[in-house]
Formats: sequence, C-alpha cells, structure tokens
Amino acid sequence: MTRPGGGTVTAPADTLFPPSRAEALRRLRGFVPHAGQAYAADRNHDAGPSLRENVSMVSPYIRHRVITEREVVATTLQHHSPDAAEKFIQEVFWRTYWKGWLQMRPQVWDSYLEELAAERSRLATENALSNSVNRAESGLTGIGGFDDWARELVQTGYLHNHARMWFASIWVFTLRLPWTLGADFFLRHLLDADPASNTLGWRWVAGIQTPGKTYRATPDNIARFTSGRYRPVGLAETAEPIRQETPPKPTPLKAPAQPPAAGPALLLLHGDDLRGDELIPPGTEIRAVAVAAAGHPDTPWPFGERARDFVNNLVADAVERLKREGQPAVARMQALSAEALRLQCQQAGVRTVITPEAPVGPIAEGLRRVTDVLSTEGIGVIQLRRTWDHLAWPHATHGFFRFRRRIPELLRQNGLIRS
Ligand SMILES: Cc1cc2nc3c(=O)[nH]c(=O)nc-3n(C[C@H](O)[C@H](O)[C@H](O)COP(=O)(O)OP(=O)(O)OC[C@H]3O[C@@H](n4cnc5c(N)ncnc54)[C@H](O)[C@@H]3O)c2cc1C
Repeated sequence: MTRPGGGTVTAPADTLFPPSRAEALRRLRGFVPHAGQAYAADRNHDAGPSLRENVSMVSPYIRHRVITEREVVATTLQHHSPDAAEKFIQEVFWRTYWKGWLQMRPQVWDSYLEELAAERSRLATENALSNSVNRAESGLTGIGGFDDWARELVQTGYLHNHARMWFASIWVFTLRLPWTLGADFFLRHLLDADPASNTLGWRWVAGIQTPGKTYRATPDNIARFTSGRYRPVGLAETAEPIRQETPPKPTPLKAPAQPPAAGPALLLLHGDDLRGDELIPPGTEIRAVAVAAAGHPDTPWPFGERARDFVNNLVADAVERLKREGQPAVARMQALSAEALRLQCQQAGVRTVITPEAPVGPIAEGLRRVTDVLSTEGIGVIQLRRTWDHLAWPHATHGFFRFRRRIPELLRQNGLIRS
C-alpha cells in the first residue's frame, strides 16, 4: 500500500494526512486487509516513515471522530474474524479505555495542566533546563533515533506508537527532563493530539500510571524494531518510577444526558466529534448545523498549530459534506461561541442544541461555558454520549488487561458480532 507523501520524512502533514472523511475512509479500507495476523506480527516495527504499511495511520481521523471507532472495527470485521483481528481491535479499544479511564478521573488532566504550568515557569528562569529541552525538541541530543523522531514529529505530526514509547522513555529516564514538557511537545505537534491517550501514555512510561511499572527503552529493542536503523548508546540502564503515586480511584461517570423530546434542534459538531451522524435522536428535526473548529476562546488550548489547521480543514470538509447531504443552514464557527449559537438558534427558531459529548479536555470545558451562557437565554445544550462510549467507559475502572476481557461482550452489545 502506498501512501501520499510516504516516501519522505519531510512530507508535510497535509500531504501525509489529507484532511477529509473521504481520505479517512480510503485509508481505512486500504489498511483493513492488513489488520489481521499481519498486524499482530508486524505492528511494533518502525521501519521508517516511508515504510508504514504495518500500521493504519488512521489515528488523526479517529481522534477527531471523522471516522468512529465503531466504523473502524465494523470495517475490520468485514474482512477478518474477531480472532484474526483481535490485536488490531484491542488497539482501537486502548483509545476507548484511556478515554473512559480519564473520564472517571478528570482531575488527572487538571493536575497535568498545573504541573505543566509549573515546569514552564521553570523554563523561563532555568537556562540549563531550557537549553536541554530545546536540544531535545530540535533533535540535537546526539542520541540515535531520538533526534530523528523529534524531527519526524515536528515535520509530519505523526509518530509510530513504538517510537512514541522510546521517545518518552529517553526523554524521562535518559535526558531526565520533566515528563509534562515531553507530553506538551507531543500535544503541540501531533495531529492526533489527545488529552487521554497522550497524558496517560506519558504517565505510563514514567511510572505514575501503573504503580511500580515504567517503560525503559533499550538499545536492543530499538535496533530490533527499527530494522537495525538505530542502536543508541548511553541510554539509561534503570528506570525507576519518577515518583510513588497511587492513581486516583474512579468516580462514577456522569449519567448520559437524555435525548430531547421530539422537535426542532440545532446540531453542533466540534473537533472531538465531527461525525455526529448516529447521535440524532428519532423525532428530532435538525434545522441548523454549526461546526466549531476550536474550543472556547477563554479556555487554554493545549494543541499545536498543525493540529489546528488540520481540524480547520476537517471542519471545512464536514461543512461541505453536510451541505451535500442536504442539511439545512450549515455554519462554520472558528471557536465555540455562545453568541454565534444564540443567533443561529434564533434564526432557525430552535431552543435546543444537541452535540456529541466531549470527553475530558478543552472542548468539554468550552461546552460548559457555552451551556452556562445559553441556559440563561432559555436554550438548552444537550451533550449526547455515543453508544460506543456509553457501553465501554464504565469498564475502565482498573487496568487495560481487565478491560480487554470485556471486548467480546462490547462487540456483541454494539451489534458487531453475534452472540
Ligand atoms: C507516549 C505516548 C503518547 C501518545 N499520544 C497519543 C495521542 O496524543 N493521540 C493518540 O491518538 N494516540 C496517542 N498515543 C497512542 C498511539 O501511539 C497512537 O494512537 C498510534 O501510534 C496511532 O497510530 P496508528 O493509527 O498508525 O496506530 P495503529 O497501530 O494502526 O492502531 C490503530 C488504532 O488503535 C488506536 N491505538 C493504537 N495504539 C494505541 C495506544 N497505545 N493508545 C491508544 N490508542 C491506540 C489508535 O486509535 C490507532 O489509530 C500515544 C502513545 C504513547 C506511548
């Protein structure tokens, strides 16, 4: 399978990841024949940016729900038995698991942001730290592999999962840099930048997600899975958890909102869910659609410019698609704006906004603000939880290995396999 721009590290992100649902579907369908035993055997290999046939590279699209997890798994199961595609399906469920885990412990995202702010203040005053971080981010450490991954991330907005693990491990245990600054470097450059997968992935490497467990990158493992391209010297030979911390206990999930009574509504789509399709309750007449590219202007935005441009283009694509599908009064918003929504509701004669539920992160925060303002105007904003999340999130109470035992049941409940 060839991918546009796949032949060079310097392929810009919009060449490597054309921002459209059509491209997401094309890529998914192109990859799915490889999602069986071949994926299970080869997925951990990072043979270089031009050789990525062993992984799907669909995460930037799933992250913004241009395609949904359900669509990815359903398409996979058209080609493979659940057993043959077990590994690939499990990986898709890792995303769901991390989301559910964070949803039940939202304070972990808040404390990441607080710790990051403190480390950023140190950067402003501590030259040695700031020089080390600059060298690491610019790929100037001299550590084989690490420097290329730093450049690849900045140039393409994507890294292979194993490279993310090696990079994070070297950042934390060899360079001994604060994990939050590394997580922030990822969030500022990844097109799939995601509060749950990124924060919890970094915490897992650093030993604060699973007590007593860290991830140590070794020269042998890197050489083996990079086809011998790298065998870095001088890597940390031990990896103790950066601190002893027991992860917080889960708090029960907020009950999902009830769909509105039959009647007219405005559909609001946003960067955490640009699909919206299956969420429209029966009897709801969509009179207008708004698609927001970013969060609320008063809420800190932790992602980078490349992800912003990517989402902006995905929003433009969604707007065109919705118009083609005959949706009425489709409008694009640069950011979540109570005022713009109020006007659009007024023009459409509706007092209800329905929107996909935003998981922990800046869009959820922005939706809270917009909801508060609109409620004073008599307009209700209802965040609807997808069935996929509703069924899976409550199981993210412990580790992934307990969660994954639920996968067959979740596939049945989602109507993807028979009993
Ligand atoms: C330190 C670190 C940071 C990460 N940050 C992010 C992030 O910000 N955003 C993000 O989407 N993923 C993140 N991941 C997870 C993973 O690396 C990417 O989802 C994956 O590399 C995407 O590439 P792919 O689509 O080719 O994956 P494939 O191997 O083809 O996997 C298929 C799908 O499964 C899901 N998936 C696979 N591995 C993981 C995983 N470890 N965790 C969660 N979901 C997974 C993704 O949706 C992916 O698209 C991070 C992992 C680590 C170790």
